[in-house]
Amino acid sequence: MKSSFVILGLFLFCLLLESLFPLRKVQFKKWSRIKDNLMLSILGIPFTRLLAYPLVGKVIKLVEHKNWGLFRKLSLNEMLVFSISFLLLDYLIYWWHRLNHRLPFLWRFHQVHHADPEMDASTALRFHFGELILSSVQRTLLVLLFGFSLNVLIVFDLIVTSSALFHHSNLALNKSVEKYLRMIIVTPTFHQNHHSYFQKETDSNFSAIFSVWDRLHRTHTEEVNADRITIGLPYVGKLMPGLIYLVAMPVKKLSAWPKKFTSRDL
Ligand SMILES: [Zn+2]
Repeated sequence: MKSSFVILGLFLFCLLLESLFPLRKVQFKKWSRIKDNLMLSILGIPFTRLLAYPLVGKVIKLVEHKNWGLFRKLSLNEMLVFSISFLLLDYLIYWWHRLNHRLPFLWRFHQVHHADPEMDASTALRFHFGELILSSVQRTLLVLLFGFSLNVLIVFDLIVTSSALFHHSNLALNKSVEKYLRMIIVTPTFHQNHHSYFQKETDSNFSAIFSVWDRLHRTHTEEVNADRITIGLPYVGKLMPGLIYLVAMPVKKLSAWPKKFTSRDL
């Protein structure tokens, strides 16, 4: 419950900062977009609070009781296990995110997040409940495999959500500060490539907290000037289709990426 208040406070703080120091020109009615994104996020609450969290909680208890999971087999210092678990969760989210782009079934749900025609802090909360359910299933399997503790999952979820609010926000940071910051963590200009109209850029910069995973696996693309980035999906276009369209999107025929938007270099 405390984490929810921290996230709400940070969300409002990001909204304030991005309206004072915008990175990209705002083209849509901000509050109407935010309303759609929040509605989609609220729709996901029953699935996460009533289904996913209790399921993961039960699996953690079972894993603790049976002493399952890789980390419980190794007799390592508690602090070391916590740090390795934290880094590993960030690394695994990187791969999960890549799979969401690679596998058409997962992309059906994840495209809803990318269909936002503009990007701000509210985009960080815009996920289809189908994607939230699938994420919970993979989280449960990871807990069974590695034996992550409840503490590390709580801290990780708080940091990764804070990071998502920050790097989705339309916040212009000091250029020289951001240049160094993006070498370590995911910043707004690092992540804006990932929401570009160009498929080559959308299929890059997958990291969630630390940007190192994209550099390690050569999925990193260099910074593009904010005024040259068009946010969204070219096959959806600059639409604000409303909640019903977004909820139904995963079951509609999957569209191909238009050829002229596969790469900026074409
Ligand atoms: Zn993505």
